[in-house]
Amino acid sequence: MISFESIEEYGHEQVIICSNKEAGLKAIIAIHNTTLGPALGGTRMWNYTSDKAALKDVLRLSRGMTYKAAVSGLNLGGGKAVIIGDSSTQKNELLFRTFGRFIEGLAGRYITAEDVGTSVKDMEYVRMETKYVTGISKSLGGSGDPSPVTAYGVYMGMKACAKFKWGSDSLSGKKIAVQGAGSVASYLCQHLFKEGAELFVTDINELRIKHLLETIKAKVIDPEEIYNVDSDIFSPNALGGILNDKTIKKLKCEIVAGGANNQLEKETEHGSALIEKNILYAPDYVINAGGLINVASELEGYNQERALKHAENIFDVIYRILGISSKGNIPTYEASNKIAEERLRQISGINKIYAGSSRFSGRFGYLFQR
Ligand code: NAD
Repeated sequence: MISFESIEEYGHEQVIICSNKEAGLKAIIAIHNTTLGPALGGTRMWNYTSDKAALKDVLRLSRGMTYKAAVSGLNLGGGKAVIIGDSSTQKNELLFRTFGRFIEGLAGRYITAEDVGTSVKDMEYVRMETKYVTGISKSLGGSGDPSPVTAYGVYMGMKACAKFKWGSDSLSGKKIAVQGAGSVASYLCQHLFKEGAELFVTDINELRIKHLLETIKAKVIDPEEIYNVDSDIFSPNALGGILNDKTIKKLKCEIVAGGANNQLEKETEHGSALIEKNILYAPDYVINAGGLINVASELEGYNQERALKHAENIFDVIYRILGISSKGNIPTYEASNKIAEERLRQISGINKIYAGSSRFSGRFGYLFQR
């Protein structure tokens, strides 16, 4: 299944197959690039239709982490892991502890965290076998729920878009349509409400809306109608793939800025469609990097205030991306890829491959780009 060609296609350094029959473990760890530091990225547990599909996913996701860390100014590389299996029936202590031992064997080249299908509790089992894990609970010295920091980063990114588009970063009086009323959206709406934005919110789960309306004032919109709202900003904070042929033509906003992952159904096609409508798009993997910043902060000894301060940097990163995009007339996600690649190129001369644990404990005073 794994060939040198498949690894070279995405430019990976190392791909590790982990198998333990007794524990029922079938996992793949992909270390894409450690130029900037150890590869950090979550473990996804998913019932993949084939081993090939699992490999493709982990290769794609780990490469994405390299770009996310690089553009966010983190001194971390890109990695990801997948466990093949049904997360609702196949999870147990043995599985995650066995997986943890594989991570320990990598001596700090890969650091994991939770992702789709894995939880804080699963990561605590991993923690029993290795220190190379983040996203554990606050009671165990971890960072807990990343949503407040993610939401703050989205808020900062949105303000950068506003400044670029309208000359001021103030969101007071701006009409903002928010898709999703979950964890990220709720914290985000609190910042926006406090600043005096006029909010329109939607969710398929009425209970989530009910909770949200206990803390802020907003007009509730039907889930299918959110794209039609006459707004200044549309903020997707629910699902991926929601910027597509059907929805982009409905949009009546000037900016799209939200925390959801993989918002563009097709990067090139739908990125260009937004440019044609003169809509500014904040690349999702940059504006939602607060989640990564939050777990990465565990490596320095977690402190939420410091994580929020680091997430503030998303303002400058997004503003710079918008400048490069506008100057070069290229989609914003291409501009952010350019920044990430440039940073990797600059550092690669001195720091090509991260060798292991010797730098783990000492280097995190330098977790962020200076
Ligand atoms: P969440 O599960 O708390 O919230 C998602 C909400 O979206 C839920 O309330 C759900 O009912 C709603 N939803 C689902 N389908 C919908 C639809 N069709 N229309 C309207 N609402 C719908 O998740 P979250 O942690 O807030 O994450 C939201 C998004 O941000 C996800 O795409 C996630 O991958 C991304 N993200 C989250 C973090 C984080 O720190 N939590 C970090 C980076 C990226």
